[in-house]
Amino acid sequence: MRLSFSEDDERFRREVADWLRANLCGEFEQIRFRGGPGDEHMFSGERKRWEQRMAEGGWTCIGWPREYGGRGASIEQQVIFHEEYARAGGPGRVGHIGEGLAGPTIIAFGTEEQKARLLPGIRNGTELWCQGYSEPGAGSDLANVKTRARLENGRWLLNGQKVWTSLAHESQWCFVIARTDPESVAHAGLGFFLVRMDQPGVTVRPIEQITGTSEFNEVFFDDAVCDAGDMLGKPGDGWKIGMALLGFERGVSTLGQQMLFQNELDEVIRIAQANGRGKDPVIRQRIADAWIGLRIMRYNAMRMLSGQQDGSLSREATAYKLYWAVWHRNLGKLAMDVLGPEAEVIAEAPYELTRLQSLFLFTRSDTIYGGTNQIQRNIIAERALGMPKEPRPARA
Ligand SMILES: Cc1cc2nc3c(=O)[nH]c(=O)nc-3n(C[C@H](O)[C@H](O)[C@H](O)COP(=O)(O)OP(=O)(O)OC[C@H]3O[C@@H](n4cnc5c(N)ncnc54)[C@H](O)[C@@H]3O)c2cc1C
Repeated sequence: MRLSFSEDDERFRREVADWLRANLCGEFEQIRFRGGPGDEHMFSGERKRWEQRMAEGGWTCIGWPREYGGRGASIEQQVIFHEEYARAGGPGRVGHIGEGLAGPTIIAFGTEEQKARLLPGIRNGTELWCQGYSEPGAGSDLANVKTRARLENGRWLLNGQKVWTSLAHESQWCFVIARTDPESVAHAGLGFFLVRMDQPGVTVRPIEQITGTSEFNEVFFDDAVCDAGDMLGKPGDGWKIGMALLGFERGVSTLGQQMLFQNELDEVIRIAQANGRGKDPVIRQRIADAWIGLRIMRYNAMRMLSGQQDGSLSREATAYKLYWAVWHRNLGKLAMDVLGPEAEVIAEAPYELTRLQSLFLFTRSDTIYGGTNQIQRNIIAERALGMPKEPRPARA
């Protein structure tokens, strides 16, 4: 693993920083440092326009191969891009599910026709995607999905329910794991579908979260139509493709989010200095621990990414999600302790949570989505340490 950057990389850093300075201003000044965890409902229109401005500058999907509209950026350059983006106060990305998950999966498993038709919308920031995996009875146990797909007159018709679908209300497309073989159980008999959201067979209902906002939704499919050409792979490939996508989710796509953690820690430190709680030796120690943890996270990210180019799950990657989720949840708790009694008070009408209160509440979900801590520990035990598999309950 290389820990320093080459001259070329540093030139690239200046190019990114210059572009951000010239563009993240004017109409976009108001969205600097906005749209992060717990703030994701803010400025959605402006942030969508920002995606398109980034696309015009060639700064979306930079890790994708050039032939698909990316820059073919190296891991080092992607780290640099995310560092500069966070430093400049780049807003939370609304296109991250398409860019980081759907796009790489289409590149890996799609036909040339699918790539030509679907990738430009992601790359140009005009088509947003959401992830239709979890169901009421299938979260950690994803292989238990019950949503069904049947082929009729050359089209797939989907029926069932997804839940916790982030950004479904903003998205034009959803990638859905559904059962093509009604007799199948577990990993067999699944398909991977690319489903248009703006059709009568799809209903999106927001779920109000503890932050009072609705970042995720329930999604109902009632004979939702998916053209035969919008299935990725073949019937039965759903599990293989779905797992490959999770490899991308645990890989480079998490970088951007984690680079923003530095801004949150800076905010906590700023408040600790302003309200005097930074003088408390225990708070000081916890701030120092958080700072060290962030450095460890960055080096671990680079170590993991330098060994993982194809979406497969390296040993390092198995520990990575657990590490950052616990670090971020602890940052939320630290933020509350730095605020002191103010943490428990909502200041005045219209009774909006402050950024740090939202951060605290939202970080409660970090140890759940993308695989709970318990599931991550099982993965570390089984896949990285080679321990015996846990007994699985018999399926009805
Ligand atoms: C903010 C947020 C955004 C999300 N966005 C999306 C999205 O966009 N798309 C999507 O498809 N899903 C999304 N999810 C859903 C997420 O993937 C699931 O919540 C997660 O996989 C856990 O599933 P579950 O909620 O059904 O909990 P369950 O699987 O029911 O787990 C309940 C508890 O049991 C534990 N447990 C379960 N099985 C085991 C085991 N074998 N060993 C030990 N402990 C176990 C879990 O760790 C957990 O503590 C999101 C969730 C959150 C919180």
